[in-house]
Amino acid sequence: MSKELISGWGRNPIIEAQLATPTQPEQIDISSINGIPRGMGRSYGDSALADQIISMQQIDSFISFNEKSGELHCAGGTTLDEILKVFVPKGWFLSVTPGTKFVSLGGAIASDVHGKNHHKVGSFCDHLSSIKLLLASGEAVSCSPTQKSDLFHATCGGMGLTGIIISATIKLIPIKSTVINQQTLKAANLKEVFELFEANYHSTYSVAWIDCLASGKNLGRSLLYLGEHDENSSFEMQSGREKSIPFDMPTTLLNRFTIQAFNTLYYRKVCDRVSRQQVHYEPYFYPLDSLQHWNRLYGRHGFLQYQFVIPKRAGLEGMTQILKRISASKKGSFLAVLKELGRQNSNLLSFPMEGYTLALDFKWESDLLQLLNELDQIVLEYGGHIYLTKDARMSEATFKESYPRWEQFMEIRHKYGATEHFNSLQSKRLGL
Ligand SMILES: Cc1cc2nc3c(=O)[nH]c(=O)nc-3n(C[C@H](O)[C@H](O)[C@H](O)COP(=O)(O)OP(=O)(O)OC[C@H]3O[C@@H](n4cnc5c(N)ncnc54)[C@H](O)[C@@H]3O)c2cc1C
Repeated sequence: MSKELISGWGRNPIIEAQLATPTQPEQIDISSINGIPRGMGRSYGDSALADQIISMQQIDSFISFNEKSGELHCAGGTTLDEILKVFVPKGWFLSVTPGTKFVSLGGAIASDVHGKNHHKVGSFCDHLSSIKLLLASGEAVSCSPTQKSDLFHATCGGMGLTGIIISATIKLIPIKSTVINQQTLKAANLKEVFELFEANYHSTYSVAWIDCLASGKNLGRSLLYLGEHDENSSFEMQSGREKSIPFDMPTTLLNRFTIQAFNTLYYRKVCDRVSRQQVHYEPYFYPLDSLQHWNRLYGRHGFLQYQFVIPKRAGLEGMTQILKRISASKKGSFLAVLKELGRQNSNLLSFPMEGYTLALDFKWESDLLQLLNELDQIVLEYGGHIYLTKDARMSEATFKESYPRWEQFMEIRHKYGATEHFNSLQSKRLGL
């Protein structure tokens, strides 16, 4: 174990922690652990932070692949990037991918991440065959939807609080090309973008960028991006050099004027109401991955991503309330992503529920918490909740009101002896 300064992707809070870096599961001594497993640290807040952290980054091997079923068994620290590099040239892709490929398999499972196709195929863990989990007792057990299903549904989306994901088997999907046929649709306001989401529900992938500072008749103006895998054989991997933000940007760089100017330009650069493009899957799924350390853009105090979901029945009204409040606060985000989500699954703490989700980045400022507490109240009022993997500040009361299955989750944590060995700053804050 070594002592390190460590944070989530939002770079706030930063803590000093004991970091263990095993290279094999056998090196993990559970009896001496009271902490949390960690993958690539792409969760924004404090879910992968604790006094003791077990980094899984070096437990990252491929174990087996079934070419008929597309089932891939690999170690918990394997990244989606590593999987894509090997399997895309062979004609396979991830069933579900988040907006960065620099996440580990264990992290993707622990957050039950969703992608641009959630409305069609559900979340990451809906495409898992099984998980091998190291329990607090030191025993490694397998769980799946049919074997120790209570443990499986607590571990998927369970933020590392049931045990350490040593390995898992995921299902890949066949693709014929690395090209995505993209359609860009321009929406003048929130009502219009909701109508476009509904009219294009059949599209495999859909996601919208939204101008969160627009107000009045422009409130919610957006660009909706639809996508389909191209059917014509072409397997080109991108090899361009990634750019990097070398140091913390001045905190004044991102302010309401720069963000408003960016948003206006970004919206206006698309002239047609409907346009079509062919793009490589990398910029389509992972637009930010080409800019390393982009989290330094927000300056040395870091930032926070606020992501919530509101059930469909309340979607337009609830989202309007929230956008009005954000627009009035003048605290903008140039990264504001709107997505329609499909049905909720059986995992106890998974985020997705049928409705609309919005993710916004906010620079840490002294009066930010007050705004977010107000937004929490609106989210609760409309029956929604906040995404745990983005969270660093939600109250225990808000969490428990909006994740009603938390008590079942705690029963499973107790049943498998996890409460004494697996805890994070987040789990302590949320009373888990
Ligand atoms: C640019 C960007 C875009 C993103 N886009 C999306 C998106 O579109 N959809 C989405 O759902 N999420 C998205 N995310 C969030 C990200 O996918 C999740 O936070 C994911 O969990 C990060 O994986 P990680 O390996 O970095 O995990 P970490 O951040 O290291 O850990 C996250 C959680 O997983 C647990 N964990 C990690 N490894 C293990 C293990 N082996 N065993 C048990 N528990 C473990 C940790 O304890 C912690 O609770 C995005 C993040 C970024 C930075």
